[in-house]
Amino acid sequence: MPMLWPFNKTQSTVAEPKRSDPRLDGELIASFVRALPDPVLAVDRQGLVIAANELVRDVLEVDPGGQHLSAAIRAPAVLETVAAVLAGGAAALTDFELRFPLPRHFDVYVSPIALTRLEGPAALIVLKDLTREQQIERMRADFVANASHELRTPLASLSGFIETLLGAAKNDTVAREKFLNLMRSQAERMKRLIDDLLSLSRIELNQHLRPSGSVDLAQLARHVGDVMSGMAKAEACEIRFDLPAALMVTGDRDELVQVVQNLVENALKYAGGGKFVDIAGHSDGRDVELTVRDYGPGIAPEHIPRLTERFYRVSVQESRSRGGTGLGLAIVKHILSRHRGRLEIVSELHHGSAFTLHIPAQKS
Ligand code: ADP
Repeated sequence: MPMLWPFNKTQSTVAEPKRSDPRLDGELIASFVRALPDPVLAVDRQGLVIAANELVRDVLEVDPGGQHLSAAIRAPAVLETVAAVLAGGAAALTDFELRFPLPRHFDVYVSPIALTRLEGPAALIVLKDLTREQQIERMRADFVANASHELRTPLASLSGFIETLLGAAKNDTVAREKFLNLMRSQAERMKRLIDDLLSLSRIELNQHLRPSGSVDLAQLARHVGDVMSGMAKAEACEIRFDLPAALMVTGDRDELVQVVQNLVENALKYAGGGKFVDIAGHSDGRDVELTVRDYGPGIAPEHIPRLTERFYRVSVQESRSRGGTGLGLAIVKHILSRHRGRLEIVSELHHGSAFTLHIPAQKS
């Protein structure tokens, strides 16, 4: 006897025979299937699809409604698991690989569901998309491998110098001086790398917290230009400004200093020979734009989309010789995304590069 609502006994009693109406079951299942957040479909005892949600249509790129399951999912493991469940088996798990249009991997949960006595057994099939999790896992593994490799290189040369100082160069004061200087530069490289890694992880931890300070990007850019003037001089390069009186954004000042400093430093490091680095800014009331432009060798188009990846460098040798870690633009990208902003890179070989940051303007 079903449990009845005390205030509406008659209606429930009248509704009782309807529960054996197969159409009612179909509607109920369809509405559950539609409400679920994963791709889900239901099949009857013959394997015909009696309900499928929008997400299934997105994944399979067909509407499987009314068709046999095998027309929609051509995976023997899934079909066998479903057949076993329809034959009275317990809920089971299998997996399913889609190759087109993009490779995707799903866990597939198949559970028996009870329809009316007339309809017999049915099964609910839930596809759990693992593609993103697997991508993240791969990225994490790559990151650990890259970071270890980057740290191991200076460490190996430090160990080599220590061996030499303990052995062959033990009593050679000239060689000792030279090796100690080389060791210092390797130790500094390791420190820069660790500082950048910590910086990146701190920014990632705060990624979801919107910054709340009030920052004048024009004033900040002039300040960074002044701080970098020594390095500019050493590169025989002049930093020029084309900035309005103020460019107000909501942000974290220290992080935005890091962004502009990274861009100006890169312009001087990789394009200092271009004689000028220009910092220009403006606001259209909605967005604030700040561009750091150089007149150096430029960047080939195939590299541009990858520059903000961790450890991606056009030339590892050149980056290393200039004290680079390959993390600067990854840090820039993360800081800007925390500020709901973005980085735009325009570059042409032999004609220099322009790195523009876009951040929503502060509402006055
Ligand atoms: P790095 O520590 O190597 O400077 P970044 O993430 O800051 O790392 O930059 C990644 C790569 O992008 C650099 O190694 C360099 O190859 C390229 N790059 C960045 N800025 C410029 C620029 N202004 N001109 C030419 N190449 C640049």
